[in-house]
This record gives sequence, C-alpha cells and structure tokens, in this order.
Amino acid sequence: MSESAAYGNFIAGAWHAGARETLENRNPSDLDDVIGHYACAEQADVDAAVAAARAALPAWADAELETRHAVLNRIGTELMARKDELGRLLAREEGKTLPEATGEVARAGQFFSFYAGEVLRNFGELAPSVRPGIEVEVRREPIGVVGLITPWNFPAAIPAWKIAPALAYGNTVVFKPAELVPGTAWALAEIIGRSGIPEGAFNMVMGHGAVVGEALLGHDDVAGISFTGSVETGRHVARRCAEGFKKVQLELGGKNPLVVLDDADVETAADAALNGAYSGSGQKCTASERLIVTQGIHDRFVEALIAKLQDYKVGHALAADSKMGPLVDERQLDKSLGYIALAQQEGAELVFGGQRLNRETRGHYLAPALFTGTHNDMRINREEMFGPIAAVQRVRDYDEALEKANDTSFGLTSGICTTSLKHATHFKQHSAAGIATVNLPTGGMDYHVPFGGKKMSSYGPREQGQHARDFYTVTKTAYTKV
Ligand code: NAD
Repeated sequence: MSESAAYGNFIAGAWHAGARETLENRNPSDLDDVIGHYACAEQADVDAAVAAARAALPAWADAELETRHAVLNRIGTELMARKDELGRLLAREEGKTLPEATGEVARAGQFFSFYAGEVLRNFGELAPSVRPGIEVEVRREPIGVVGLITPWNFPAAIPAWKIAPALAYGNTVVFKPAELVPGTAWALAEIIGRSGIPEGAFNMVMGHGAVVGEALLGHDDVAGISFTGSVETGRHVARRCAEGFKKVQLELGGKNPLVVLDDADVETAADAALNGAYSGSGQKCTASERLIVTQGIHDRFVEALIAKLQDYKVGHALAADSKMGPLVDERQLDKSLGYIALAQQEGAELVFGGQRLNRETRGHYLAPALFTGTHNDMRINREEMFGPIAAVQRVRDYDEALEKANDTSFGLTSGICTTSLKHATHFKQHSAAGIATVNLPTGGMDYHVPFGGKKMSSYGPREQGQHARDFYTVTKTAYTKV
C-alpha cells in the first residue's frame, strides 16, 4: 500500500491531498488489513476551508428552502440506499459488528431526512408589542460558519446529527472527523459533495485534534463549535470558545447506571444490561457501565446476564456470527485491561470474561467483562471506562438504588428495569441524567427528540430533534411600525 493519501480533504467543492503526513486507517478486527491512507490537514487547509465556508454563507443562508430541503433529502436517501456497503466500511474501520454498523449508516440517513423536513419548519414568532401600532417578530437566523468536531465511536451517526441540522438552518460547515475513522467520514463527504450543495457550504478537513481541531477553535471566522468527545478535550474546547466568544455545544462522557429492581422481569433486565453495557464493545457514551441491582433479584439477574454473555460471541466485526467486535485500537484495549486489573485490586469479583482473546486474524479482541461485589466509590464505578466492562452493585431497595445512580459526576443516560409504575415514574422524574429509560437499555435513542445530558456529560444547547435549532440558529427580534 502506497504511503500517499488516496483520499483527500474536501475544501471549496474540490478534493485536496494533504501536504505531508497521512492518516493510516487499519482494521481493528484484522491489523493486516489497511483500509487506506487519508490526507492530514494543516493550518493552511483549515484556513482555506473556513474561507470557503465564509464565502458560501450568504448564498446558502438565503437559498430557497426547497434547494436546502432537496440537498438534505438527497444525502439522506443515498445514505439509506447504501447502508450495507457503507456499513461494511464502518464495521471494518471502527470494529462494531455489521448489523450495528449498517444500522448506524441508516440512522445517519434518517438524520438528513429528518432535517430536510425541518428546513420547511423553521418558523419564527410573531408577538404583540407593548407599544401600540408596532408588531414584533422573532426570526431564526443561522449562526454562521460552524466547526463540527466528532469522536471515533459513531463515525456516521454523530457527524450526521451535527452536519444535517447545521446545513438545514442555513449555516456552512467545516467538519473535522476523528483520526481513527476517516473512511466513513470521507464517504459521507463524497456523498454530500455530489448532493447539489453549493461549493464551500460543506468542507471536511481530516487530521489531528492538536492541529486541525485547534485551528478551528482559534479561527475568528468560526462562529460556533459543536464538539463530541472526551471531558478533557471538551473542557479545553469550551475554554477556547469562551476566549473567542464562539457559541459552543459539548457532548461528553457518561457513567450511566442501569437500576434493576426486585419486581423487574429478569429477562428484560438482563437483555437491557447486555445491550446497554456491551453493544459497540461498550465504547458508547450511553453505555451502562454501572448495574445497580436490588438484593432480591441480584443473584438471578447476574446468573441471567452471565448466561447471555456465554452466547455473546466475540469476533471479526464482519463475521456473521459475531455479537461483539474488537476494541477500536490498542490504546482502548490497554485502557480496558487496565480497568479490569484495577477493579480486581480494588476488591471487585470478576465473574465473567475480561481476558484478551486471540482470533484467526490479529485484532484488539477482549472478552466482555462482568464484575460483582462492587461499590460506588470504586474507580470502575466513577470513571468512564469506555470498554466492554460492567460492574454490579448490590443495593437494599429503590431509594438506595436511586441515590447510587445519581451519585456520579456524569449525567448522560440512566435506566431502570421494573414493573412498578410508581418507581418508574419516580425514576423518570428524579434520575439526574438528561435521558431516562424504563425497561430498555441506556443506549439506542430516537433521532427526532433531544439528546444530551447533565453535569459533566453535556454543555450548551441540546442536540437532535427540533431542539438542535437552539444551537444552530440565533434569534433576531424585528420591530415594525404598522
Ligand atoms: P477525544 O476528545 O479524544 O476526541 C474527540 C475529537 O476531538 C476528535 O476528533 C479529536 O481529534 C478532537 N480533538 C482532540 N484534541 C483536540 C483539541 N485540542 N482541539 C480540538 N479538537 C481536538 O474523544 P474520543 O476518544 O474520540 O471519543 C471518546 C469520547 O467521546 C468518550 O468520552 C465518549 O463518552 C465521548 N462521546 C460522547 C458522546 C455524547 O453524545 N455525549 C457520544 C460519543 C462519544
């Protein structure tokens, strides 16, 4: 495989090879499989992308609604039509299983279709004035050029849920995908580039956060940054945006609890935990790393979950019988192995998995790990592990479960498994998270309603659904004497 970048950055409607360095994209299920080399942008590329987005802004912001609607619809339709092919690419570069990856590409398409509709629903408000003979309008205007910075764990869905509303509300975009997953990003940019979108309205610059991300954060012509990633980077992004008076939206980590009460259906609870903790190899901000279980059901729940884990085959992301793929890279694997060792040092009991696995192809395989006998002060119950590891805590009753569930610095999602309407209702009202689920996993959300958390999990306006408008538009109040 040649070292030259086969895949360039997309700037001002054209493809550009990077200057020197390339991003090598390797398959985490098979380290001998190189997917491609992708251009690495530098400051000058970011400057060119922002300049193109700025130049394209007036025409795109004022484009006929049906033009914007049609562009978004075309992107959504193509993504859905090619979900199998692009799902293979996504599974190959990120390591989630083929059904998960195909579903994610389809979901990306749904975001574009949804926001195609929202183009036509960007209504303003008409208010009576406190002064006679005057009419007040509140209009929604695009904020300008937006920088969209995304993580590696949802290479299609997260870019889609930022790019689609950004464009729908008339902003122009500079998109910076994660270093580990440039392949899906490139395919998405290629589709957007052919959608009839005007030159410069959408740009993509691949490369390192410290170069490309920083260049976006420091650019005076970028009006807003929507960022999804780690708390550490997010804090830095928020600081830099404050310095430059940029609008900012952050979606960060999670340490999501799944509460299981004595009256739960044990199969429902074990299914919710299996999916919540281990799908996507646990590399999800919505993953339920904490399983908080009342004493009457504890042993039956653990037994049912272990039985399901025994059938949860770990293998190549593209293999038909794989239920869980590898971790995305060596760093994530080492991080998980580190937490597994730490949990044992802290006194937790490893009751399933946790060991590195060898498969026919060389990859970052790990057996999903389950701990029991843990308590909420242990580091495995406080820090985001971002791997296929879950820790069970035994609690007395609902009150203790809720207290433990809320005792965390994160607040993205939370779930409860119960047949009690009273407890389900109380939990929905009192769990300190932005999303609460009942008898469902803590991950796997709809695309037409808001997504986001509390505390360290999110900052700024919500993403997704119509609420995304709060970030991607700014109000203008107009007064008319009639
Ligand atoms: P990360 O913070 O390392 O990187 C995220 C993005 O930021 C990447 O594109 C990276 O290149 C870029 N970046 C890095 N340094 C930067 C800098 N100095 N300036 C600007 N950009 C910079 O996160 P990650 O490892 O890619 O993703 C995992 C994290 O994302 C986890 O914490 C996870 O919980 C979180 N996440 C949150 C959500 C959510 O919606 N809440 C969804 C998915 C993932």
